[in-house]
Amino acid sequence: MDWQNFSEYLNSNFDGNLPPIQILSVHPLAGGNVHMAYQLHTADRNYFLKLNSRHHLPLFETELHSLNAIKHANSISCPQPYATGIYNDQAWILMEFINFSSTKQPAHELQRGRDLAQMHHRIHRELQPFGWFENNFIGLTSQHNQWHSEWHDFYGQQRLKPQLELATLNNAPATLYGLGMELIDTLPFWFKDYTPEASLLHGDLWGGNSGFDETGQPIVFDPACYFGDRETDIAMTELFGGFSADFYTGYNELFPLDKGYQSRKPLYNLYHILNHFNLFAGDYANQAEKIILHLLKMAK
Ligand code: ADP
Repeated sequence: MDWQNFSEYLNSNFDGNLPPIQILSVHPLAGGNVHMAYQLHTADRNYFLKLNSRHHLPLFETELHSLNAIKHANSISCPQPYATGIYNDQAWILMEFINFSSTKQPAHELQRGRDLAQMHHRIHRELQPFGWFENNFIGLTSQHNQWHSEWHDFYGQQRLKPQLELATLNNAPATLYGLGMELIDTLPFWFKDYTPEASLLHGDLWGGNSGFDETGQPIVFDPACYFGDRETDIAMTELFGGFSADFYTGYNELFPLDKGYQSRKPLYNLYHILNHFNLFAGDYANQAEKIILHLLKMAK
């Protein structure tokens, strides 16, 4: 990458979104699952840049839209996104650089729970409240977001079914699809005593997509937003760990979870287990099948 030319390209094409940029030095960063990441030093601030081949542009465009949505919700902090595009045949996204800190105090974790609860209070109340204005991505997998008026229809048709279809294409055991479709038929059962509202969701809230800056401020990043049941975000925080008890205390103080959450948790994490099969293959299909059999037994 010719960083001098990249500065000039940014200055001539994105002057509405960005202050003039003069890149002084560049540091590659480790840790991204998918993209190459860099810290760009300029005279007045640092920027965070992700790069990948040009066909990844839709990932960056949808990430920018999600970051903007979280910013506008004005609750949990996220990096300010600036711009995205193609330069020299590479897709890129540029955003605010966050100085992440590895130390975490109980008070900061409590605040992370409160901030997320506040974002979840941002409810979408259109005629068809569940969905998003575009499809986005969960990892590299397309995430379907067509609008639905009923949450259980959205969850069946836009979340479980596309993952089950993809798993079939990816040679999952033949039984998985049939069992999964049987589970979709039971979905109204899980919402007999609970009517989810359409909260603004992060959508991919595992521990690797959240941290704390050097002042202890909680930050989320790499989102895949949509309007849906807030329990899906909470379930995902429990799937891979990284959030301690104070987080849930802070969350429940502001916006207590429904008592049926624990029984729906495996239903919601099933989506991510299926996605893990579709991304990484391995034993995830068997794990998914076990969860489905357990849920089917409960719904009988
Ligand atoms: P990928 O989409 O490749 O998974 P991420 O968006 O998760 O990439 O970012 C990769 C890593 O870079 C993260 O684990 C985090 O440590 C760091 N990171 C992410 N966003 C920022 C940011 N705005 N400022 C500084 N570091 C960041």
